[in-house]
Amino acid sequence: QAHLDRIAAVDGDVHAFLHVNEHALTAAAAIDARRAAGDSLGELAGVPLAIKDVLVTTDQPSTSGSKILEGYMSPFDATVVARSRAAGLVPLGKTNMDEFAMGSSTEHSAYGPTHNPWDLDRIPGGSGGGSAAAVAAFEAPIALGSDTGGSIRQPAHVTGTVGIKPTYGGVSRYGAIAMASSLDQVGPVSRTVLDAGLLHDVIGGYDRNDSTSLPDTWPSFAQAAREGATGQVLKGLKVGIVRELPDSGFQPGVASSFRESLELMQAHGAEIIEISAPHFEYGVAAYYLIHPAEASSNLAKFDSVRFGLRVTPEGNATVEDVMSATREAGFGPEVKRRIILGTYALSAGYYDAYYGSAQKVRTLIQQDFDAAFAKVDVIATPSAPTTAFKIGEKIDDPLQMYLNDLTTIPANLAGVPGISIPSGLAADDGLPVGIQFVAPAREDARLYRVGAALE
Ligand code: GLN
Repeated sequence: QAHLDRIAAVDGDVHAFLHVNEHALTAAAAIDARRAAGDSLGELAGVPLAIKDVLVTTDQPSTSGSKILEGYMSPFDATVVARSRAAGLVPLGKTNMDEFAMGSSTEHSAYGPTHNPWDLDRIPGGSGGGSAAAVAAFEAPIALGSDTGGSIRQPAHVTGTVGIKPTYGGVSRYGAIAMASSLDQVGPVSRTVLDAGLLHDVIGGYDRNDSTSLPDTWPSFAQAAREGATGQVLKGLKVGIVRELPDSGFQPGVASSFRESLELMQAHGAEIIEISAPHFEYGVAAYYLIHPAEASSNLAKFDSVRFGLRVTPEGNATVEDVMSATREAGFGPEVKRRIILGTYALSAGYYDAYYGSAQKVRTLIQQDFDAAFAKVDVIATPSAPTTAFKIGEKIDDPLQMYLNDLTTIPANLAGVPGISIPSGLAADDGLPVGIQFVAPAREDARLYRVGAALE
C-alpha cells in the first residue's frame, strides 16, 4: 500500500509506470496467507516488484513501449516473472521503456517519456528508464530490466541505482519480447547490491524454455554481496582500466568520479592495471549493425495477423496493404530506422560487408576481453560518458544517442556480465554517476562482491 501511495503521489511527474497492477494488494494478501499456512517463502516474499514492460505478464498488459502492442495480454508469464511470483514477490506494475528497448533515454516510448526523479527535466536513461526511475523515486524497492547494449546499467548510472547485466544465458529470456536475441539479457535494478543479488537468485538459472540458457549451477549472489560487504575482496584485487578509453570522451564530472573510485579501491588494497582493449572503440559501430539486423528479423512477427494492432486501409486492401498500414501506424521512428538499417545490412550483396564485418569485430572484442582477463579480475569503466542529459537534447541526433552506450556495449557483444553501482554525484553538475565493473563469463558473483565492497 505504501508503494501504491507513493506511485499515486509522484508518478504523475515521473511517469515510470505504464500500468499499475490493480491486483497488487490481493497478491500481497495471498502471500500473507501462504506464509500463515507455513509455506517456506524466500527473503523477498511480499516485496513489490516493478517489471519492465518488455517482459510479458498474464495479469497486466505488455506493450514493450509500442503502440503496436497497446493493450496486449500475454497468455503466459515470462520465466523471470513466474519465478518472482513463486518466490512471493508482488508484481507492482509495468514500467516505461523506449519502444522495443531501442534507446538510451526512454524518450522513444510510444507512451511519452519518463522523467529522472533527480531532475524532472532530465532523462532517466534507457531503454529501462521506467524501472530505474521507479526504484530511484522510491515507487518500487526493486525492479526487473533488460540489457541489450546497456539498458539496465546506463539507467542505473543516471539515476543513482544499481543495475546488473548477467552473463548471457544466466537468466532466462523466455517471455522477454525479443529485440536482439544474441545480446538481450534480463537482470535486476535495485537500490543496493544485496537487493540485486537477492532478486538475481530468484530469477536466474537454467530454463528449458530458453535455448541459450546455461545449464550451470550458480552460487548465491546474495551471499556474494554479503561477503563483499566486508571489503576484504578489494585486497589484491586486480582492476583493469582500458588504455584506449581516453578521459576526453567523458564529462569531467564523470571522469573525476571514476578516478576517485579507483583511488578508493587502491586505498583498500586493489591494484589498478592498465589493459589494452583496442577494439572496444568499434563496439558501437558493430552493435548498430548486429542489433538492427537481429531486431529487424525479430520484429517481422508484428505483421497485423498474430499480435496486437491491425489497421485496415479503406477500399480493397490486400494482406500486404494491411501489414504495411499496421506497421506504419504501430511502429515509431526509431524502430523504423532500425528495421531499415537491419534489413539493409542483411540484404544480398551487403551482408558480408556490413553484418559479416560486424560479426568479425564482435569476435575481436571477445578476444580483447579474453586477453584482459588473463591479467585482471575485473575491468572498470565509467558506466556512461555523461550524467543525465536534458529531455529533448539528443532526440534528433541518433548518433549522439547511440554513443551513450560506448562503455556498456562491449559486455553485451562478448556475453560477459557487467554491474553499474553508484559512485557518487558529479562534481560539475551534482547528478548521479555510476561505475561499471565487467567480469569474465559466469563470474557474476565476483561483481556482487566487488560492488558490495565499494557501495
Ligand atoms: N541504447 C541501446 C540501444 O538503443 C541499448 C538498448 C538496450 O540495452 N535495450 O539499442
